[in-house]
Amino acid sequence: MITRTVLTSIFLSFLIGSICFTFAHPTFIPNSVEKEPIYILAIESSCDDTSAAILNHKNVLSNITASQKIHEEYGGVVPELASRAHQQNIVPVVHQALNKANIDKKLISAIAFTRGPGLMGSLLVGTSFAKSLALGLDVPLIEVNHMQAHILAHFIEGQEDGIPEFPFLAMTISGGHTQIVLVKDYFDMEILGETLDDAVGEAFDKSAKILGLPYPGGPLVDKYAKEGNADAFQFPKPKVEGLNFSFSGLKTSILYFIQKETAKNPNFIEENLVDICASIQKTIIGILMDKLKKAVKQTGIKSIAIGGGVSANSGIRTALRTAEKNRDWKTYIPKFEYCTDNAAMIGIVGYLKFNEMDFTNQSVSAKARYKITQN
Ligand code: ADP
Ligand code: MG
Repeated sequence: MITRTVLTSIFLSFLIGSICFTFAHPTFIPNSVEKEPIYILAIESSCDDTSAAILNHKNVLSNITASQKIHEEYGGVVPELASRAHQQNIVPVVHQALNKANIDKKLISAIAFTRGPGLMGSLLVGTSFAKSLALGLDVPLIEVNHMQAHILAHFIEGQEDGIPEFPFLAMTISGGHTQIVLVKDYFDMEILGETLDDAVGEAFDKSAKILGLPYPGGPLVDKYAKEGNADAFQFPKPKVEGLNFSFSGLKTSILYFIQKETAKNPNFIEENLVDICASIQKTIIGILMDKLKKAVKQTGIKSIAIGGGVSANSGIRTALRTAEKNRDWKTYIPKFEYCTDNAAMIGIVGYLKFNEMDFTNQSVSAKARYKITQN
């Protein structure tokens, strides 16, 4: 009888103990990777933004960017000035990212950096810095393709539209790129179409320059467009086969139109600025949306994610939200801070590659031309 009572109480205490242990250690796998905090320090320096971020798994703890004002007076990015500014900015930006994330550099699990594509001098600053810091801290080094990062930024935790499921279409629209990409998996992407000349951000910036607006003019065109009549002026859309884009003809037609009108009325721009901006924006967004509709038709995929600086444009955002309602598309628009060049997007790719132990060695060098299809 006593033995039975003792055995029952031992059994019960074992059961209660197991339950308590399970709740105290929900994963129940002591060495699970999920339990290890993984901190990725990410560095982006492909163009004119020096950025550093710290990610803990898919969460962004800090994302600090120093934009370079110096280029404004030249009306475009001056490569030599960009690399000098990166050299000045990189140490303080990385310090700030560590301070904001409130972690010591000794806790960093790996360093991810933009290898390309971009301006060679700019890329070299980030690449050399990442290599030496990785060597100093004795942590793995992870190379990241900037264009893949613009797309994979959608996998950062905490975004309004959630996380896209594979396969999906990505449209990357920035100052340097315009692409429609079929994303089959994290690192399995196919370019369906891209610009044959200027990028869409350049189309915005060059149109703004013709109107006498400061660089970068894209956000200003967007601002004035909100107050104007988009049907006031007509600009021709380019006729480009397939899913490729062309924006250089539009720039020329805007230039000739403005020259012709200002010859008749020297105050033409001043008097019509908001209507001109609204008409230009309508034309550019029309070009992008026409190609997206074509890509959806061609692939049968209705899940669309956008990325790059031009994703901040209110016209493209509204057009996509409308297509979501009227065309049954599911659209993913990243948080503003993950649209323009930023290190958080480099960090998420770093984390995904860290999980696959996809590291690079110290002989790696920057790559100005780097295809999205190359891992
Ligand atoms: P890149 O580094 O390739 O130049 P970014 O991703 O940093 O590109 O984006 C910068 C580009 O985005 C610039 O061409 C800028 O004019 C454009 N841009 C930013 N905000 C807007 C906006 N609201 N409307 C249109 N273009 C914009
Ligand atoms: Mg930029």
